[in-house]
Amino acid sequence: MIKLRMLGCNGGIGGPGRRTTCYAIDDNILIDAGTGVGELDLQQLSRIDHVLLTHAHIDHIACLPLLTDAVTAIRSETLQVWALPAVIDILVKHVFNDLVWPDFTKIPNASKPFITLNALPESGPLQLGDLRFSPLAANHGIPACGYRVEKNQVSLAFSGDTADCPPFWSALEQDAQLAAVILECSYPRRMVDMAKISRHFDVDSVAHRLRGLPEKVASIVVHRKPGMEEEIEEELKQALPGRDVRFPVHGQVYEF
Ligand SMILES: [Zn+2]
Ligand SMILES: [Zn+2]
Repeated sequence: MIKLRMLGCNGGIGGPGRRTTCYAIDDNILIDAGTGVGELDLQQLSRIDHVLLTHAHIDHIACLPLLTDAVTAIRSETLQVWALPAVIDILVKHVFNDLVWPDFTKIPNASKPFITLNALPESGPLQLGDLRFSPLAANHGIPACGYRVEKNQVSLAFSGDTADCPPFWSALEQDAQLAAVILECSYPRRMVDMAKISRHFDVDSVAHRLRGLPEKVASIVVHRKPGMEEEIEEELKQALPGRDVRFPVHGQVYEF
């Protein structure tokens, strides 16, 4: 069983009801480190061993620099950060550069730093305990990926931020174990142009793709932009009658 906790699943901030992308897998792994990280108390933060990033946009990494800083009093193990090599390069150059934030890969010392930035394996999945993580293709205009997460013959697929991306859906078609897809839908119909410009999904593109998935696969819609959540939900429910389409709020827990 995979426990998925939606710490942040909004496309932006605004009030206590919105937190940006961060999902906990079991208790020690995060996918992305947006403002949803702030849902965790110090003890919970200290248990995080791995963070897998989809891309380096600020809504997905905002709390990464703050995460280890919060637990220096109670944690001495290095936090392992995993991402595409090009995403690691962006973090080194633009975040942990001793200007925006201290270089936590050398503090307190280079042999046992706060964080280590790791490129994902070039081939084959990343095995963390009994979980396996594989990058999935994304189309976001910058280095970006989704993830397939697998454990005990069950898998979940995370789109990350993306416009439509045929290789992502090909991978899902071949995945007989797939229990759920966690799919972004940033914009409602009336903002399809904005979706295209920013390489995000809109309602009609999502509806088209979800109709092609087996009905047993749950669809969890995330990254709705602030103020458009209800509009997107209504449009998708209307477009996909009878399908298992879920609209999580942060804090929600799913087990697959
Ligand atoms: Zn993005
Ligand atoms: Zn985003």
